[in-house]
Amino acid sequence: MIIDGKYVANNILSKLQKEIEKLSIKPKLCVILMGENPTSLSYIKQKERSAKVVGIDFELRQLSINTTEKDLIHLIHSINNDSTIHGLIVQLPLPAHINTHAIIEAINPKKDVDGFTSENIGKLFLGTANLISCTPKWVIKLLQESHVPIYGKHIVVIGKSNIVGKPLSLLLMNEGGTVTVCHKDTQDIEVFTKHADIVILAAGCPWLLKKNMVRPGVTIIDVGFTVIDGKIHGDADFEALEPFSSITPVPGGVGPMTVAMLMENTYIATTIYLSSLSE
Ligand code: NAD
Repeated sequence: MIIDGKYVANNILSKLQKEIEKLSIKPKLCVILMGENPTSLSYIKQKERSAKVVGIDFELRQLSINTTEKDLIHLIHSINNDSTIHGLIVQLPLPAHINTHAIIEAINPKKDVDGFTSENIGKLFLGTANLISCTPKWVIKLLQESHVPIYGKHIVVIGKSNIVGKPLSLLLMNEGGTVTVCHKDTQDIEVFTKHADIVILAAGCPWLLKKNMVRPGVTIIDVGFTVIDGKIHGDADFEALEPFSSITPVPGGVGPMTVAMLMENTYIATTIYLSSLSE
């Protein structure tokens, strides 16, 4: 069975559009981009399109690739203090002369719709986060909306990066899952995947998960995204696994659909702003 991320994302966006209509103000999302990286520009276009669909104002602040860290931080502070902007993203990757960590930490955590600041990551650890980073949040949403239970299940996450594997493992634990995290130094990954109810792939290694490594009926969420000869590949051997599992296709499962969570986070940031007005 194929888990259709596009269908779930469209449902979420249309529900969100109705919630946004009920707000007393129009949410606004701002993206800062340094330079003209075409991949970053295409991600930003997706964000702009989704924002338009749900009724979020969108602004791109494009800076020269040579902008100094000081000037970038100055811009972030001015957006932090701009009450008409509710969500802020600094598009990554940043050029080598910029300290990415310092830039992320300059963002007001209440506007941090990527969920990357240490305050929001700390809250994720405690299970109290409002603004959770989009890819891990999407995986949880996709499982929930596809009626795949997490509570009490054994979930194997392959990949332990700060942006996908680690936050995802915490979220799954917060939802009552029993989580095993595998990574590039794990010996015999199949020892773990063979006993899994759900396998989540976030390694960036095409054909990593093969049919003989899982049991029939397993759910597979493939976050992997690798381009080979112009074709996009996930981390699963999709053709071999699809007949006897529930699996997300690549593309069409995770990928660009995570942008739906960015819109939800912008909505949440706007409600945080509105409740601060009544404090
Ligand atoms: P990363 O390179 O930071 O981390 C990869 C992780 O996979 C590491 O923890 C590493 O130990 C593990 N790994 C690498 N090779 C492995 C192997 N052979 N066996 C087991 N584990 C292995 O990558 P990332 O940023 O976490 O992204 C992972 C994948 O997810 C990439 O393909 C990336 O393009 C994709 N991604 C997709 C989205 C999205 O869909 N929105 C977002 C982020 C990342």
